[in-house]
Amino acid sequence: MLVVTDGQERVGAELAAGRAACPGCGGRLRPWGFGPRRVVRTSSGLEHVRARRAVCPACGVTHLLEPASTLPRMRDSAEVVGAAWQAKVDGAGYRSIAALTAGRSRP
Ligand SMILES: [Zn+2]
Repeated sequence: MLVVTDGQERVGAELAAGRAACPGCGGRLRPWGFGPRRVVRTSSGLEHVRARRAVCPACGVTHLLEPASTLPRMRDSAEVVGAAWQAKVDGAGYRSIAALTAGRSRP
């Protein structure tokens, strides 16, 4: 799995141009469809995310190109998880952290 920083349109263009490298062998990744659609909770509400999938023709491994704003296999965005961690560091308990993040709609 790769974590990418930009939008899915740019990732698709990079893949189509052969500019994305395989983290395993350094080969050029090619587009290979999409990962499963999932719902991610962000600070502004729910977002539907569908990551690009790529395959390396050299080693045959497929990779899921996960947007940097999400965390792999998690329903909360990196921003929501970071806010919860920051609240914990600031001394908040789990109930107040849950109340803080529950203000955002649950999936
Ligand atoms: Zn490879």
